[in-house]
Amino acid sequence: MREVRVRFAPSPTGALHIGGMRTALYNYLLARKHGGTMILRIEDTDQNRYVPGAEEYILESLAWAGITIDEGVGKGGPYSPYRQSERKDIYKQYAQRLLTEGKAYYAFDTEQELEEMRQRLKEAGSSDQQYSSTTRSSMKNSLTLPESEVNQKITQGEPHVIRLKVPANEEIKLTDLIRGEVSVNSSQVDDKVLMKSDGMPTYHLANVVDDYLMKISHVIRGEEWLPSAPLHVLLYRFLGWEKEMPQFAHLPLLLKADGNGKLSKRDADKAGFPIFPINWTDPKTKEFSAGFRENGYLHEALLNFLAFLGWNPGTEQEIFSFAELAEIFTLERIGKSGAKFDIQKAQWYNQQYLRAKPDEELAKYLLTSLAKESISCPPEKAAKICAIMKERVTFPKDFWEQGKFFFHSPTEYDPQIVSKKWNEDTVRFLSAFSQELKLISLFNSESAKLTLEKVATIVTIPSGKIMQALRMTLTGGASGPDLMTTMEIIGKDETIRRISFALENIKVKVS
Ligand code: GLU
Repeated sequence: MREVRVRFAPSPTGALHIGGMRTALYNYLLARKHGGTMILRIEDTDQNRYVPGAEEYILESLAWAGITIDEGVGKGGPYSPYRQSERKDIYKQYAQRLLTEGKAYYAFDTEQELEEMRQRLKEAGSSDQQYSSTTRSSMKNSLTLPESEVNQKITQGEPHVIRLKVPANEEIKLTDLIRGEVSVNSSQVDDKVLMKSDGMPTYHLANVVDDYLMKISHVIRGEEWLPSAPLHVLLYRFLGWEKEMPQFAHLPLLLKADGNGKLSKRDADKAGFPIFPINWTDPKTKEFSAGFRENGYLHEALLNFLAFLGWNPGTEQEIFSFAELAEIFTLERIGKSGAKFDIQKAQWYNQQYLRAKPDEELAKYLLTSLAKESISCPPEKAAKICAIMKERVTFPKDFWEQGKFFFHSPTEYDPQIVSKKWNEDTVRFLSAFSQELKLISLFNSESAKLTLEKVATIVTIPSGKIMQALRMTLTGGASGPDLMTTMEIIGKDETIRRISFALENIKVKVS
C-alpha cells in the first residue's frame, strides 16, 4: 500500500464547523491507523472570504480536540509552505504549463460580458449557460482572438483569467471509496477558472497541485466537494499525474436530528446547542457563538460522537477511546447516507466519559466552580460529592449547579413536595428522627439509615413515606443523589439543623 499521507485543508473563512472537525478526525484516524502523516494545509486563496483569526481558531480547535498535526501550518515540513497564499508562484508555473500545452487558455471577458452570455443563452432556451466547449468560441479569449492581440492585452495588464479547456463529450470516471464509481460527461463540466485576475489560483488548481506535490494518498473531504472531483481528475490527467492521483473519499452530509435537511448554524442556534468546537466571535459582525469546549463537552466524548457520524464499527459497541478508534477505523465502513446530528447523543457520550473518570479528577471540576464562589472545600469531600453525583451529571459544571445544597442550606422548598408530602406524619417522623440523630456518636450513611428505620418502627410510619420530604428539608428539591450519603457529607449537625429549620418554617397542612 502507498504511504498514507492525508491532509485537512480548511479555508480560513470563519470558525471551523463541527462537520469540518469530523473531516479532520477521519483524516487523522486513517493516518494513525496506517502509521501515516496528517497534514494541515490552509487554503486561503480566496481573499474576499478571508477572515482574520480563523486560522488560529482552526489550530486551537484541533489542538483542543487532540487531533495532532504531523506536518503543515504551525508545524512545518518537507513541502513548506503549507499556506496556499504563500505558494502563488508554484501554481502560476503549472497554469503556464497547461497554457503552453493548449490545455488552458486566457479569457478576457468582463463581468458584464459574462452576464450577457448567460442572458443570451437563457433567451435562446439553453438549459446550460456555462462557459464551456460549446460557448467559448463566441467569447473573448485566446482561442478566439489573434495571438498578437492576446499578447498585447497581457503586456498591457488587461484583467484576465486562465480557464481550463475542458474537452467536449468525454466520460470522466473516478472511484470514490465511499460512493463507488462516479462517472460524469465532460460536457457537463464548465471551463473552470484556474487563475483569477488577482493572480491567485482558484481552489481547484491549488488543491490538485498541492495534493500532488505533497504526495497526498487519500483525499477525505465533505460530500459538497464531490461535484468538483471529476474536474480534479481531469486536471490530474492534463498534468500527467494520473498515476499519482490520490484516492477520493467524500464523507456523507451532516443532517438535522430529524434527517430533514442539512445541519446549519441557524438550526443549532435555534435549538440552543453549539456548532463550533470552541468559542468564536465573528470579527465583522461581532456575533458570539459558544463552543462545545466552553459548553462543557469533553474532547474525547465529542470525538467519539463525531466518529459515529457517518461511520460505525459494525458492532454494538459505542464507546471507543481515541486509540481504539484509530485501530478499528476504516474508510470502507463509512456510509453513503447523511448522518443525523443528534445533540442528545453527544450529551450521552459526555455523560459516559464523565462517569468513567476517577472521582479525584471530577473533584477538580467541582473545586474550580467552588473557587469561583469563594467556597473552600477539602478535595476528599469534593471527591465524595462527585462520586455520588456522577451518574446524574452531563457537564462538569453540573456538579456545582446540581450540588449547591452540599454547601448552602436550602432557602426554598419544592412546593409540590410541600403540598403532597408535608403532613402531620411527616412532622412526627422528622422530629423523632432529628432527636434520634443527636444521640448517634458515629454518624455516617449506614448509621443514618439504621436510625431512620428505627424511628420508622417507633412512630409506626414507613420510612418510604417521608423520604421525599426528608430530602426536601436537606436539599430543597425532590430528587438528587443517594440520600444517606448526602446526609453523611452534609454532616450530623447540619442535617439536624436543616431538619429543624424545615420543621419550624413549613406549615403543616391540617387534613
Ligand atoms: N478548502 C476546502 C474546504 O474549505 C477543502 C476541500 C478539500 O478538502 O479538498 O473545505
